[in-house]
Amino acid sequence: MLDGMALALGAATGSFLNVAIHRLPRGESVVAPRSHCTTCQRVIPWYDNIPVLSWILLRGRCRGCGEPFSIRYPIVEALTGVMLLGLSLQFGWGIGLAFAFYFACSLLVVTWIDLDYRIIPDRVTLPGIVVALALALVSAWSAPPEVRWAPLQSWAVGTLVGGGILWLVAWGYALATGREGMGGGDIKLLAMIGAFLGWQGVLLTLLLASLIGSVIGVGVMLARGGDTRLAIPFGPFLAMGAMVSLVWGDGIIRWYLSTLL
Ligand SMILES: [Zn+2]
Repeated sequence: MLDGMALALGAATGSFLNVAIHRLPRGESVVAPRSHCTTCQRVIPWYDNIPVLSWILLRGRCRGCGEPFSIRYPIVEALTGVMLLGLSLQFGWGIGLAFAFYFACSLLVVTWIDLDYRIIPDRVTLPGIVVALALALVSAWSAPPEVRWAPLQSWAVGTLVGGGILWLVAWGYALATGREGMGGGDIKLLAMIGAFLGWQGVLLTLLLASLIGSVIGVGVMLARGGDTRLAIPFGPFLAMGAMVSLVWGDGIIRWYLSTLL
């Protein structure tokens, strides 16, 4: 029952994420106007806007003009539903889940927009840093007094380390090659990841993103005949690394330290 609710609530959120993914890069408002067909401008009524189901029932077409709607809409909805279900199983229902889900949704939005436009909008990452601060304040307030300073410190250090590392990498890369390899969007994204996960989580994220990125990047490079320039945006890899760190980070870091010591 609770699992079904997580799926449905997640999918409904995914429906909103679709709007955000479509409108944020265009600098449009994510709340107004109501969802409409981009071809015939027909406002989509609620019964045609039920996550995943409506897309299947309408066979992926607008009821007004028959224009096909991208398969990405139901995919994002289903993915968001599965994400909330998975996170609820991991974190249980509570304030922590709300923050984890917010973080995961931000990463999902960043991934699609970066793939489409090669940009990571400040309107996702900067509010994320503020929401992570709220999480730190909530944690500091509810935690026992002896650790009251720790969540805030973790937020501040994580944000600085996350933003700082990529800034240094970008600066070094530009100095060495005379080309710009990484944008300011990546720097702010990693700052947001650090704000949520702390400096350990952000280092793990960077490590995982580099691993995933190298494997996929080498594959793409071979397929394209050895172009060494960054052929795919780094944001999606950072987002993937951050998701893994969010869910399994503590376990991975403990395992790593135990094999090291
Ligand atoms: Zn239409």
